Amino acid sequence: MELYWIAALSGAVICGFIGSALLSEYDKAGTGFLCGFLLGPIGLILVWAERDKEIRAASERRAVAVATPTGVRDETPCPFCAEPILRAAKVCRYCHRDLPAPSTPPAREPRRTVTRHFR
Ligand SMILES: [Zn+2]
Repeated sequence: MELYWIAALSGAVICGFIGSALLSEYDKAGTGFLCGFLLGPIGLILVWAERDKEIRAASERRAVAVATPTGVRDETPCPFCAEPILRAAKVCRYCHRDLPAPSTPPAREPRRTVTRHFR
């Protein structure tokens, strides 16, 4: 019986260390350790999902940095809702309306004009 508790405790500690190692890169080593220690393999699955989320968020941040090499976002107010959006945007992130191409004057799409009548 004593052996069982030693095995369970060392398993929990090992899972805790694996969890903390997985999230240490994202300043969440404590959270990773707790998840692994308290929940064991299930906690490690949660830790893995959290790590996946962090990796995706980091790659999104990188994509923004690549789009603006100077570090300054090239923004312009949306012609419809006036919220600041990227000049290269094709759809407004706030009002989700299609934006006219940057250099050409706003062209009216016949299909959109029709849908507007029904609003
Ligand atoms: Zn807008």
